[in-house]
Amino acid sequence: MVSSQKKDLFKIDGISKIYNGRYVFNNVSFSIKLGEIFGVIGKSGCGKTTLLNMLIADTKPDKGKILFRDTKLVDSVDDSTALRSVFKEKSDLKKMYGFASQSPSFYPNLTVMENLIYFGSLYGISKKVLLANAESLLELVELHASKNILAKEMSGGMQRRLDIACALIHGPSVLILDEPTSDLDPILSNAIWEILRKVNAKGTTIIIVSHNIFELEYLCHRFVVLSEGKVTALGTAKQIKEKACFEEQIYLHSEPGKYTALLNSLSLDIRSKIKGTNLKGKLLMIKTLDAPNVLMAIMETLKKSREKIVEIELSKPSLDTVFVDLQKNEKGKITAVAKENDSNVKIAQKKKKVDRKKAKRAAKSKKKRKKNNKKSKSVVEEEEEEAKVQVEEVKIENEGEEQ
Ligand code: ADP
Repeated sequence: MVSSQKKDLFKIDGISKIYNGRYVFNNVSFSIKLGEIFGVIGKSGCGKTTLLNMLIADTKPDKGKILFRDTKLVDSVDDSTALRSVFKEKSDLKKMYGFASQSPSFYPNLTVMENLIYFGSLYGISKKVLLANAESLLELVELHASKNILAKEMSGGMQRRLDIACALIHGPSVLILDEPTSDLDPILSNAIWEILRKVNAKGTTIIIVSHNIFELEYLCHRFVVLSEGKVTALGTAKQIKEKACFEEQIYLHSEPGKYTALLNSLSLDIRSKIKGTNLKGKLLMIKTLDAPNVLMAIMETLKKSREKIVEIELSKPSLDTVFVDLQKNEKGKITAVAKENDSNVKIAQKKKKVDRKKAKRAAKSKKKRKKNNKKSKSVVEEEEEEAKVQVEEVKIENEGEEQ
């Protein structure tokens, strides 16, 4: 039997989405597996947020399907019944995920605990469970000592942790995060990554968008790289690097440094694996796709020669470097594809006018959201008042239950 860890949680099936006459997604398919930490990478504007909004059924693709597995049906072997459209089963989907978007969801004038109680009360979970969840989440995000502090009085890092806790209060099986560490320094970012590792270790699938590819490489099990409406790469960091045929570099400094003689004494087979060399002062850089074998051959040749090793180092490309390279390659390919797709683009341009208006509205509201925590001050205050009433109700009911 297939392990439940390997089953699809989300299946993105042939989706296309056009904004402003441009394909943000052009027939894109891939899956996100149960239990994994899945990273979504791509340069700004490539559709990462749009993808997250599609997963939570907030944005509809123009074409294609987005399916999710009801986590009650994890043991089902029949994907045709276990995978359901996010757009048709919105209420079940809503219970299944927690979402922390780029702008915070918590209310600044409520305390940490009040925020948790309020967000939990939106999911109709029993008060007892809600309070128990809140207590264990406070421990997890290390905000227990601050539970009675107003959210607005906390530091940026604490606020991010509160936002994550609010997204987890109903015990969702998947946590979706859009840039959870933007504007945070490396130490505060690390604290977030640590929390996410713990959340994942408890069985929660995590889907995460972040521009910080370097840090994501050590957090995510798998990635999708999006570019120009397409999936440029999909898999583990190792698979992506291998597929991109990214060269590794061997740096050698030996004395007296007769590198030409050294390279000439390598076998023809090994020499064919060397894709280039570069001499900088006394340091020889060797590019290869097969670093282990080339490195071993160099070491053996050095042993036999009169060369003395001063320094030898193997440098592997980070996912970050591969990403930059993938973007460059994709840009070239896209220019050719764009010509082929001319007729599609013409159809798309008919939608341009409407979409441009929408984009203006979207940009305007995004700006407004960022500025005012999504809503105008009066709306936030009004909602905060309502939230306070709900929190009070939960507190009173709980006191009643305890007596
Ligand atoms: P990313 O998150 O990768 O930065 P987005 O998903 O926010 O990218 O946006 C992808 C593209 O789609 C951008 O060009 C953006 O302007 C456009 N876009 C996103 N939402 C809308 C919308 N509601 N209306 C029109 N265009 C949009």
